[in-house]
Amino acid sequence: MAGKVAARGELAGAEAAIAYFEGEFRPLADARVNVMTHAFLYGTATFEGVRAYWNAEDRQLYALKLRPHLERLRASCKILLMNPLPDVEALEKIIVELLKRNNFKEDVYIRPSIYKSTAAIGVRLHNLQNETYVVALPFGDYIDTASGIRCATVSTRRTADLAIPARAKVVGNYVNSSLAKVEALKAGYDEAIMLAPNGLVAECTGENIFVSRNGVILTPPLSAGALEGITQNSVSTIARDLGLTVRTDNIARSDLYIADEIFVCGTAAEVSSVNSVDDRAVPCPGPATRAIADTYAKAVRNQDS
Ligand code: PMP
Repeated sequence: MAGKVAARGELAGAEAAIAYFEGEFRPLADARVNVMTHAFLYGTATFEGVRAYWNAEDRQLYALKLRPHLERLRASCKILLMNPLPDVEALEKIIVELLKRNNFKEDVYIRPSIYKSTAAIGVRLHNLQNETYVVALPFGDYIDTASGIRCATVSTRRTADLAIPARAKVVGNYVNSSLAKVEALKAGYDEAIMLAPNGLVAECTGENIFVSRNGVILTPPLSAGALEGITQNSVSTIARDLGLTVRTDNIARSDLYIADEIFVCGTAAEVSSVNSVDDRAVPCPGPATRAIADTYAKAVRNQDS
């Protein structure tokens, strides 16, 4: 039996869960690193967050977009000068085996990570070994999606591509997201919208953003400092299939204030509508958001026709 995990990913009684760690499947409780590990000292680890959805009718777990996640992981590793780069097919097999060994019968969050494993002080990226771990845990809703979320633009800027590329899913970069999120939460909001150093809208702390006005849905370009979102890509395809117009373009903060609809999306967050930004109400959930969210929710469980 796999351990139980609270909705937001906090571990509770997960002693029995099986992890993949440094070449072996073993109890999660035994997947431990030395405090001198480079990734622990300097945040030099890459990771992915993948969901697998339980389809009760088929009695099957469906891992969503596993291959694109692993390809993005490989790209993040390339940016961090990791050598050798992870073998996407081998990792895919490890993940399928891990899901089998944990015998899950509910929705799951899977986190593969490649980390600089050498125990060494020294700020660098080269001449370091890397290792792999994968954990998989039962996982419910990350965001309460029912009534929409209250968002705030925050003072913390998204890291510029020349600082820490936001397109790389690197552990250390989540200090940037955490600084933004805590600003929003402490001020009584649900989520932060992060702006690029030039003030254009980048993304949220763990989600990409879409803004609709006058029948056109915009999402910021990578150059604004956004992750190349896998859900963002799926949602764009769904929206186009529904006959909606979607474009990648710059978004100013004031575009948020006069939007017809705003929604955010990510593997964990799925599609969540935004009900206000900096206390300016946004109609919620709007018709486009509702149609896209419904289609997405069916597709992830393989229940779309
Ligand atoms: N932006 C950030 C900063 C994220 O951490 C995530 C979650 N991986 C996303 C966007 C959404 O990406 P995806 O849809 O690929 O999960």
